[in-house]
Amino acid sequence: MKCFAMLSIGKVGWIEKDKPSCGPLDAILRPLVLAPCTSDVHTVWEGAIGDRHNLVLGHESVGEVVEVGSLVKDFKPGDKVIVPAITPDWGSLEAQNGYAQHSGGMLGGWKFSNIKDGVFAEFYNVNEADANLAHLPEGVDPSDAVMLSDMVVTGLHASELADVGFGDTVCVIGIGPVGLMTVAGANLSGASHIYAVGSRPNCIEAAKFYGATDIVNYKEGDIVKQILDKTNGIGVDKVLIAGGDNDTFTQAIKILKPGGIIGNVNYLGDGDYINIPRIEWGVGMGHKSIKAGLTPGGRLKMAKLASLLETKKLDTSKLITHRFEGLEGIEPALMLMKDKPIDVIKPVVVIKY
Ligand code: NDP
Ligand code: ZN
Repeated sequence: MKCFAMLSIGKVGWIEKDKPSCGPLDAILRPLVLAPCTSDVHTVWEGAIGDRHNLVLGHESVGEVVEVGSLVKDFKPGDKVIVPAITPDWGSLEAQNGYAQHSGGMLGGWKFSNIKDGVFAEFYNVNEADANLAHLPEGVDPSDAVMLSDMVVTGLHASELADVGFGDTVCVIGIGPVGLMTVAGANLSGASHIYAVGSRPNCIEAAKFYGATDIVNYKEGDIVKQILDKTNGIGVDKVLIAGGDNDTFTQAIKILKPGGIIGNVNYLGDGDYINIPRIEWGVGMGHKSIKAGLTPGGRLKMAKLASLLETKKLDTSKLITHRFEGLEGIEPALMLMKDKPIDVIKPVVVIKY
C-alpha cells in the first residue's frame, strides 16, 4: 500500500509498505478524511520524538472500517468512525490510574506516527478498536469530525486541566487550531472574560467567533503588561497555554491570580528548564498551580465530543481553511502546516472512493 512517511529527521516522502495486519482486538481502516498537525511538523522537522525511518505519519483521521479482529464486538466493516490521536492500552496500570495517555510509559498512549505507523496511508491499524473508535454520528460532516481526533479534544483539555468554571476570567495563549478550541472550551465551560493571545487576523476573527471577549497581540508588546492593564492589575483566574515557548510559563505565572491554575497543552521543543518567577509565584506560597498534559484519547471521549457537533453546540468548520482531495493531498497539506502562511488555520484531506 501507499504511505506518506517520515524518512528521517527533516525528510518526508511516499513509500510502499505491506497492508497492516489485524490482531484479535484491532480494526483495519481506510481513511475518509485526514488532517496534518503541528505535531507532525515537530516530529519531522524538529526531531521531537527522535529520529524515525520510514515511519508513516499522521494521527488525525475519520475512517471506514474494512476489517475487525475476532474479539471486536461493536464495530464491523463499513462503519464510519472517528479515530482519536491517542489510542491507549486500556488495561494498563496507567489507564487504571486515570492517565491512559501514558499507558505503557510517559506519552505511551500516543501510538500513531510515534511508536507505530500513522494514518497517512491507504490502510491503518487501530489497537483495541472497541475502546478506541467512536461511531461517526449521522449528519455530522466527516471533515468537521476529523477536528475531534486532536484539535477539539486537546483544546478542551486545557480547560479540563485548569478546571475552568462559571464566571472565570481566562487568558488563552496561542490561537492556532488548538488554541481556538481552547477558547471554545473555556467558553463552553462558562468563562466570562476570555483574553485570546495571537497575531494572525483570521485566527483573531475565529477566536472572536469561538468566544474571545478581548484580543491581545503578542507582537504588539509584552502580554503581561497588556493583560494586567486590561484586568486592573489583578490578572486572571486561569491561563490556558496552546502556543508560545518556555517563557510563556513565566508570563502565565505573572498574569495568574493567587489560587489560579495554568492548563498547558503546548509542546515545548527546546531548553532544559521552565522558569517560574519566584516573586510572582508568591515566593513558593501563591497557590498558583501548573497542570500540563497530553490530550486524552479513547472512544467515550470521542463519542462525547462528537455529540457537541451533533447538537451544534460546537462548530469546528471555522477551523478548516484549506481542503485537498485524494491521498496525494497529504503532502501539500502537511507543507501548509509547516510553512503556516498567514491564511492557514487547518487543512483537511478528503479521500473519495
Ligand atoms: P499553531 O502553531 O497553529 O498555533 C500556535 C499559536 O501560538 C498561534 O496562535 C501563534 O500566534 C501563538 N504564538 C506563537 N508564539 C507565541 C508567543 N511567543 N507568545 C504568544 N503566542 C504565541 O499550533 P497548533 O494550534 O496547531 O498547536 C498548538 C500546540 O499544541 C503545538 O505546540 C502542538 O504541538 C501542541 N499540541 C499538543 C497536543 C497535546 O496532546 N498536548 C496535541 C496537539 C497539539 P501567531 O500564529 O499569530 O503567530
Ligand atoms: Zn494532531
